[in-house]
Amino acid sequence: MDSMEIYLDANATTPVLAQAARAAMQAMADDFGNPSSVHSTGLKARAMMDATRERAKALLDTGSGQLLFVSGATEGIQTAVLSALHALRERRDGGDRQAEVLLYGATEHKAVPEALRHWNDVLGLGLQVLAIPVDRLGHHDLDWLRREAPRAGLVCTMAANNETGVISDLAGIAAALGNSPCFWMVDGVQALGKLPLKLAGTRIDYAPFSGHKLYAPKGIGLLYVREGAPFTPLMAGGGQEGSRRSGTENMSGIAALGAVLAALNDGQTFRDHATLSVYRQRLADALLEAFPGLVFNVPLDQSLPTTLNFAVPGLSSRLLQDLFDAAECRISGGSACSAAKAQPSFVLQAMGLPEWQAAGAVRLSIGPAVDEAFIDEACARIRACGESLRRNCMSPADNLAVEGEGITRFTLEGACCYLIADAAAKRCVLIDPLPEQLPRLAQLLACQGYPLLAVLSTSGEALHAEARQLLAEELPSLGATCAQDIDALGWPAQATSIDLGAQQLSRVRLGSPSERPQQALLLSRSGQAPYIVFTPLGVEEMPAEALAPLPAHALFAPAQDAAQTLAQRAGPDSTSPEGATPDLQLDAVQLAEFVAQHPDALLIDVREPYEQFLTNSLELAGLGPRQAVPLSRLLNALPDWLAAPRPLLLYCRSGNRSRQAAQALARLGHTQAWSLSGGLALLPAQAAVGAALSDPALMV
Ligand code: PLP
Repeated sequence: MDSMEIYLDANATTPVLAQAARAAMQAMADDFGNPSSVHSTGLKARAMMDATRERAKALLDTGSGQLLFVSGATEGIQTAVLSALHALRERRDGGDRQAEVLLYGATEHKAVPEALRHWNDVLGLGLQVLAIPVDRLGHHDLDWLRREAPRAGLVCTMAANNETGVISDLAGIAAALGNSPCFWMVDGVQALGKLPLKLAGTRIDYAPFSGHKLYAPKGIGLLYVREGAPFTPLMAGGGQEGSRRSGTENMSGIAALGAVLAALNDGQTFRDHATLSVYRQRLADALLEAFPGLVFNVPLDQSLPTTLNFAVPGLSSRLLQDLFDAAECRISGGSACSAAKAQPSFVLQAMGLPEWQAAGAVRLSIGPAVDEAFIDEACARIRACGESLRRNCMSPADNLAVEGEGITRFTLEGACCYLIADAAAKRCVLIDPLPEQLPRLAQLLACQGYPLLAVLSTSGEALHAEARQLLAEELPSLGATCAQDIDALGWPAQATSIDLGAQQLSRVRLGSPSERPQQALLLSRSGQAPYIVFTPLGVEEMPAEALAPLPAHALFAPAQDAAQTLAQRAGPDSTSPEGATPDLQLDAVQLAEFVAQHPDALLIDVREPYEQFLTNSLELAGLGPRQAVPLSRLLNALPDWLAAPRPLLLYCRSGNRSRQAAQALARLGHTQAWSLSGGLALLPAQAAVGAALSDPALMV
C-alpha cells in the first residue's frame, strides 16, 4: 500500500497481507506444482492445499461438511443456488410442490437475488423470488420469515451486511425456519475473520466466503456445503475438488489464503473484537467532531466493529468521497458496486431510512489487521477534512469567514450561476442563481459577509426571481440593495452600471420589447473595455448588434453550458480544420520530459480549494511554478493565459476536470494547454497531507 494512503474501504476489498503475498509468490515461483500430479512437485502442492483447507475447516468448524476452493463469493453463491434449485426441480419432478418461493434478505449483496433469478430462469422453475423485509436497524423481519418459511424452497441471508456491517440474528433465522424443508444459504463474506462462525452446529446448508475481503488476493474463495446438502457442480471438467469444482486450483491464491488463516491464529496480526470496537469508536468520535450534524445510519452496537455508515446533512456522498480522497483516505459511498452510479443505497432504502440518508450515505470500513498508528492517522485526516470544509465555508456548522474575490461559477445540470465579488470593496453580485443552489450560495454569502448589490438574471427566468426572493428572506442583512427598486431582470432602476470597486458591471438589453426581456452583463475593469460577458445565450445565438461594440478578446460566460465549454469567444473558434478540438494530454511517465522541454511551463491545480487544502502537490512542485486555479474559478485566469500564452500543464485528481479546462483553452485558441491524464491519482507518490495549505498568494 502507498505509505500515504489511508485505506478505509476494507469491506470492498483489502490489501494483501505481506505474509500472504510471500506465500503466493512461493507457490508461483518455487512450489508451483499441480496438486493433481503424482510426482513430488505435485505432492508438495497438494500438501499445501490440504493444509490450507484444514485450517479453514477448523476456523469455520465445518465438521463433516465440505469446504471447496472457488474463485470467490460470487462463484460460491452461484454454486449454492444452482445446487439448491436443481434439487428443488428434482423434488418438483417427483411430485413435491412444497416450494413456491425463493427468499433473500432485502439488504443482501446483489449477487444473491441476481443468482436466484438467473438460475430460477435457467432451470425453468418459475418460483417467486421474494425479499425478506428488514426493519429500521437492518434486521430481518422474523415474523414475516416464519410465515413464509413453510412454502420456501431456498432462503438466503447474510451473516453481516457489507454496507452497514449489521450483524444478522442467525439463531433467530434458524428458529424462524422451523421445520421448513427449505435449504438455507448464509453469505459469510463480511463475517470471515470478524465473527465466530461454527457452521457444523447449525442447519446452514451453504456458506460462501471470499479471500479478498480478508487480506488474501482476489480470485480465491471458499464454499461450505453441509454434509447431505444437495450439490450440482457449476464447473465440470478434470474432476478437481472431488469433481465438485473442476479446473486446476488457484494455488497462489490458496497459499495466500493459507497464510491469512495461519495469521488468524498467531495472535499478532489481527485485532480482537474489543480492540476493533475501541478503534471504531475513535473513528466515530473523529467523524462527529469533523462533521457537525453527522448521523450514523445504524447504531454502532448492532454492526461489525469494522464498519461505519453515515451521512452528513447538506453534503453529498460524492462530495464526501472526493474530500476524503483528497486527504488520501479511501472511503466509499453505499457499496462499491453502485458507487459509480451515485444512486441512493438500496440497503438503506430497504431499512426505511430517510431519502437524504440513503442518498448521502458513506461507508468507512477497516480490516481487522489495522493498528493503533493507522487509526491515529485516520482520525487526524478525518479532522483535517472537517477543517478543510470549515475553512472553505462548506461545513454544516462553525464555518470560518472567507474572502471573496473575482468570479466563481456554480453549475447545476448544465445551468450556470456566477458570483462576482470584490475583496477590497467588499461587495458582490450574483447572476442566474437557481433555488436549488440556495443552501450553498446562502452559506457562502454568509461566510463572505459582503453586501449583495444585485441578484441578476440574464434570461428573465422565473426561477431566478424566486431565488432572489428566497435569498432576500434568508439573508436580509446582505440584501439591502436588492430590496430596492429593480426591474424584471433584477437590475437596479435608473442605474447604468453596478460598481463592484475595481470592476464594473454594465448591461445590454437583448431581444425586442415584445419578447421576454433578456440581458447580457458586461464586466470590465475600471476604465477598460468589457472582458467578460455573461449571456443567456451561446455566443453564436447572440445578436450581431450586441456583439459589435465588444472587443474581440471578450469572453462569453453562458447561462447554459451543458457541453462544459466554460467560456466562448466571438469570431472563428480554433478547432482544427477537421472540427475536432485539439486534445493535448500527457501521462505521469511523460511528465518529467515535458517539464524539461518546457522549463517555462506553469503547472495548474484545477481542483477545488477544499481538496487543495488537503493534498499538497509536492510531487509536482519541484517541476515548475504551481498555480491554484479551481475549475469553478477558471474564468478569472483565462484572460491572462490567452493574452500571454505560455505552456500550461493542468492537473486534478482524475484528469477529468483538467481535460475540460485544457480543451476550453484549446477552443479559445491556446495551443499549449496540456492535461495530466489520469491526474494525481496515477502519479507514483502522493504528497504530504496535513500542513498542506495551498499558498494563499497563489490562489486566483
Ligand atoms: N457477498 C458480500 C456480502 C460481499 O460483500 C461481496 C463483495 O462485495 C460478495 C458477496 C461478492 O464477493 P466476490 O467479490 O468474492 O465475488
